[in-house]
Order: sequence, then C-alpha cells, then structure tokens
Amino acid sequence: MDERKMDTARLRLVQRFDVTGRVLLLPRMTPFGTRFLAASFRAFGVPAVVMETYKGLSLGKEYTSGKECFPCQVTLGDILHFLQQEKVRLGPGFDPRRYVYFLPESDGPCRFGMYNKLQRLVLDTFPEYRDIPITYLSTQDAYSVAGLLPAEKARYFRRVAYVAAVIADVFDRIVWRVRPYELREGMTDGFMEEAARAMESLIERVGEARDFQAMLDLVEDVAKTAAGFVDPRIPRKPRIGIVGEIYLRTHPESNQDIVREIERHGGEVVDASIAEWINFVSHERLRKMKRNAALAFRRKDRRALRQALKTAAVQRVENAWQAWRQRQVYARVLRHLDIQPDHSVREIEKFLDGGRHFSFEIGTEAALSIGGALAHVHEGFHGIVNVFPFTCMPSTICSAILKPLLLQKRVPYLDAPYDGTVQPNREVALRTFVYQARQYRDRQQNGKRRI
Ligand code: SF4
Repeated sequence: MDERKMDTARLRLVQRFDVTGRVLLLPRMTPFGTRFLAASFRAFGVPAVVMETYKGLSLGKEYTSGKECFPCQVTLGDILHFLQQEKVRLGPGFDPRRYVYFLPESDGPCRFGMYNKLQRLVLDTFPEYRDIPITYLSTQDAYSVAGLLPAEKARYFRRVAYVAAVIADVFDRIVWRVRPYELREGMTDGFMEEAARAMESLIERVGEARDFQAMLDLVEDVAKTAAGFVDPRIPRKPRIGIVGEIYLRTHPESNQDIVREIERHGGEVVDASIAEWINFVSHERLRKMKRNAALAFRRKDRRALRQALKTAAVQRVENAWQAWRQRQVYARVLRHLDIQPDHSVREIEKFLDGGRHFSFEIGTEAALSIGGALAHVHEGFHGIVNVFPFTCMPSTICSAILKPLLLQKRVPYLDAPYDGTVQPNREVALRTFVYQARQYRDRQQNGKRRI
C-alpha cells in the first residue's frame, strides 16, 4: 500500500461504528456531566469510563505543535496518560482492541472539527495504539448517535444522555447556589459527591428502560436536602455569570478552578449550561433543514422538498421534547431551591437584537456567549466573565463585542484566557473584578445608577 492510501486507511479509524461491549474512553469535561454521560453509555451496554484528567498535560504538549488550542492539548494528554497507565497495569495483557476513544467534533470554522483526526495521527506514532479506533458525535447532525449503537437503541440513548446532561447542569447549579452560603465548609461538595454517585448508579440501572421519573425523584431529593445547607444569615453575594468556550469554562482543571476562585473572593457564580449548547445545536439543525426545504421549493424539486419537510418535522418534535424535559428537571429543583433557570435558545437570540450585536447565522459559541451574557445582565447579574482558551477565535469575537457593550452599561466584565500557564496577576484581576461587581450591586441597590 502506498503511503497516501495508508494514511487514508488510518484516518478511517476515526469513524462511527457499533461500540457495544468495547471500553469507551471519555475525556473528562464537566465533572458531573461526563460521569452521567458515561453512566448513560453503560446503561446501554457500553462499558464507558471517564479518564483521569490533566495528569498527562506534558504529554499533550509534547505531541502538539503549539498551534492547537488548549482543549486539544488537554484531551490528548488525557488519552496518552490513560493508555500509558493501562499498559503498566495490564502488562502483556494490554490489548488495544478492547478500547475506543471518544472525541466529539463540531463543524463550522473551528479547529475542534479536526482534533480527532490530529489525535489519530498522534496515536499512530505509537505502534501499540494504532488499533485503537476513535469515535465521535458531531454537531453536524445535532449529536445523533446513529451508528454508535444498534439502531433500535440509538434514539433512546440520545434521549437518556440528554436528560443526564440536564441533570448534571442542575447538580452544578445546586452547588453554585448553595456552596457560597453553606452552614459548614465542605458540606455541599461532600453531599453532592454522594448524590452524583447515586445518580450514576440510578442512570445505569434505569436508563435503558427510560425511567425518567425515578431520575426526577432523585433530583428533587437532592435539591431538597441541599437547600437545607444554606445559612439564612449570610446575605446574598454579587452574582457573576460565566460565558465562553464550552470546554474551558466547564473543565475546572483547565480554568484553574475559576468558579471556586470567584466564590473565594465573595461572589456567587452561574456558568452557562451544557444543555444550552445542545439545544442551540438542535435549533441550528432545524434552521438548516428549513433552509433546505426553501431551496427545494424554489428549485421545484418535490422529492427533496418532501424529504426536507419530513426531517424538519422530526427535528421540531425532538427540540420540543428537549425543551419539555429540561423544564421538568428544573421545575423539580425550583420547588425547593431558587437555582438560576436556563436560557432558552430563542431568549438568547432575542438579546442579539435582530443581528445588531451578532447573528445565529454566523454560528459558533460566540452567539450563545454574547446573547447569554446580555440575558444575565437583564436578569440582574453583577458581572460577566468570559472564559476561553488562549487564541480561541469565537471567544475573541465575543470579547470584542461584549467588552464595549458592557462598559457602556457599566457592568463589570473580565476576559479570562487560559493555556495551562499560571498568570501571576490572575488572582488580583479576579479579586478586583469581584470587588467591582459588589460595588455595581450596591450602586444598583441604593438606586444611584439605573441601567
Ligand atoms: S472554539 Fe476555541 S477552543 Fe474550541 S476549537 Fe475553536 S478556537 Fe479552539
């Protein structure tokens, strides 16, 4: 085989295929979210594991050129470190064919769409890892799992995984609402760790049967107990909204635990949710289908028109189902604890002011970050932080638009780029930012400045 053919054959090892029964390796992103996704896979017969994170960062940096953005280095480090450990643990029993590496991708202008291919090339430099295939979900088909599981399971798996993602979001929101006000330091984290373990095993047990009721009941129990940890004597703190690139803002190790840092300086945080991104991707898919239908209509192509209308109808139902389930999960928590409700995609688009600030047509996370930040300001938040990997294109756009807008409104705003290095002035920047947020809140409360 000539070299080019060999390269193409190897890249085929980035593909979708039935992963049932193989050990699916998930790089950790949001702590609760990745665990619940793994539990959903296990419920459907895929022994998924969440890899230890951030231990292999030096490996990730060694095998990249420096032109990639930070999430690529972190995830590459995670897989190389995991495989190294497995080789040591299993010795001659190490069999690469047992594993499948899971690395989702996105379409659009971002480098993220190429990272699983790049990581394939890196894995191929190790002869013993060449037979480990890489599989993915893609934004292109709104994270459809078709091909990853047998057809009769795929649709149901996606639904369970979606609900698991929403539950992980509300677990996070419970922590962020309770921890800054807890009666005894550490009680929230300790309890939520136990709750997360209980939720993982529940998803594994009832996921395939889609017993959403059982999951909702557990969510409600957790919220009820956690609400009791709030010390009513502690006054409400300035509320900070985090927007930005999805991996960096949800991966505590990569963002040097920015949520806790802000809490340490006296703020209460709400980070943008994972479901917001999934809903956005689903919403964009529906728009694409509508565009296809309009095109087929203009071309008078009846067959294409029928097909486009049919797929659009299916997607519309799916999107409505997601919105309904998300409301259900939040409603159970809101009975006991006033966590921040999530933004709907329509609401976010409304804050883009008819395309004056940004447009969904351009896509990328910038649309969500700009709209989401403005929605937070409207909801009375006292500061916005934009968290992103150094050189991230959509987040740089977001910063260019948000900074002057929020300056005009006098809302404190902070850019927080990360690339794995520790910046000596970060602590001071965060402390000053929370101080400004407190001043902004006090001015509002005293009615000195109306926005
Ligand atoms: S969104 Fe940002 S971090 Fe993600 S691939 Fe694109 S440039 Fe990199």
